Amino acid sequence: MRIDHLIDGQWHAGRDYFETVNPANQAVLAEVARGGAREIDAAVAAAKAAFPGWAARTPKDRARALHKLGELITQYVPELSETETNDSGQTIAQTRKQLIPRAADNFHYFAEMCSRVDGHSYPTDTHLNYTLFHPVGVCALISPWNVPFMTATWKVAPCLAFGNTAVLKMSELSPLTASRLGELALEAGIAPGVLNIVHGFGPEVGEPLVSHRDVRAVSFTGSTATGNRIVRAAGLKKFSMELGGKSPFVIFDDADFERALDAAVFMIFSNNGERCTAGSRILVQKSIYARFADRFIERAKRLKVGDPLQDDTIIGPMISRDHLAKVRSYIELGPQEGATLACGGLDALDLPASLKDGNYVAPTVFVDVENTMRIAQEEIFGPVACLIPFDDEADAIRIANDIAYGLSSYVWTENTGRAHRVAAAIEAGMCFVNSQNVRDLRQPFGGTKASGVGREGGTWSYEVFLEPKNVCVSLGSHPIPQWGRV
Ligand code: NAD
Repeated sequence: MRIDHLIDGQWHAGRDYFETVNPANQAVLAEVARGGAREIDAAVAAAKAAFPGWAARTPKDRARALHKLGELITQYVPELSETETNDSGQTIAQTRKQLIPRAADNFHYFAEMCSRVDGHSYPTDTHLNYTLFHPVGVCALISPWNVPFMTATWKVAPCLAFGNTAVLKMSELSPLTASRLGELALEAGIAPGVLNIVHGFGPEVGEPLVSHRDVRAVSFTGSTATGNRIVRAAGLKKFSMELGGKSPFVIFDDADFERALDAAVFMIFSNNGERCTAGSRILVQKSIYARFADRFIERAKRLKVGDPLQDDTIIGPMISRDHLAKVRSYIELGPQEGATLACGGLDALDLPASLKDGNYVAPTVFVDVENTMRIAQEEIFGPVACLIPFDDEADAIRIANDIAYGLSSYVWTENTGRAHRVAAAIEAGMCFVNSQNVRDLRQPFGGTKASGVGREGGTWSYEVFLEPKNVCVSLGSHPIPQWGRV
């Protein structure tokens, strides 16, 4: 199979191709066009030309096309989820039940919202001030390899809903479902040039895209290191940066123990641990630490690692050989830093021959981790949990905040006052109290510190995809300086 660029509604062959492989068995899934500055110029020009027509369509008209696209995604859930699982290693249970349906929700939600974009008015005795919102123009949308389809739609939906046009660049490691998104967008009646997709590698495609002078906004999801490079290369533009995380999952001794345990297991091992909001630092109060650790380890040992296409698989393969090597290097590092390997580890898997070529790693738990260790400070992005004991509330907050990142956080306690105090004190863009990460699209999504700049979701998406304008109208009676009048 060949995957080409989508520019101005036409499929453009690559001058060169690269392979995308199935991380479960290294089978080549497709040859993917390898773009460069030339394809970016063509795609940005197409998006620029399509912009006035798309921006001029009524919100209701744009909403109709976006709802249609959401419906098509729902219709193709079985196909899209299988492709996504094959390309990214995310388990079929998650792609089919959560990730692909959520992509359809993204279109329905922003289709509804675009009719409601609403300026405020501020009347005074002398003037009427009001706010107009204009689409910004051509937007660069850059997506990572983890949950690729959902993340791409999380950007494409608000971008198009608010009247902008887009050039989408998927990760070179999982580009397949986006290509289907391009086809379905055309089928839904989204005009040629409104959504363009250029495939390829970061320095060859991503950099010319973000630095292009006709691109007005960049919505990026990926690592903190790449986010820094993009900000430097792009110059003055609107940015939304959704970056890495190392989120604290804090459990006090008065928490509902069983629910906290369920949520802790889910928040580090779901999506193969390749999840930006993973609760990868599990902070447990000392009075319940030993009991919690025993139960957590027992649960981790039971998680099924294997073929991501099987319904009962919990942990599929890591996205690539390189990423597997990175995750394994942290598993090797833990004991060298003084952490105790409680389960998992480098040689823990006993997989059948049919799985021997997959990028598998055992769910791994380190106990008695110190927050200063690299395994606690750096984003591993795999199924590796660090359990860290703490004394009291102040100690929990100190450890939770002693990190470069600030994406998500989780607090478990039955003490309402403490729940609110800790939620307020933790330096993160999101805090879930007595809950796993449950996304409400009306709420701001994003991080602070090294985890990002800006928020998306609800009206926060205005910040990146709309340009506010103040209109100030005199009511006719206010004094004007009469300089130079005779
Ligand atoms: P990455 O930064 O390596 O790549 C992300 C995208 O950027 C890819 O499409 C890549 O090709 C592109 N890219 C690379 N170099 C570029 C450059 N110089 N200019 C422009 N584009 C460039 O990240 P990844 O490994 O694909 O994804 C994993 C990371 O994403 C993790 O750090 C994870 O936490 C983060 N992430 C964050 C969120 C969030 O919402 N905060 C969500 C998902 C993933």
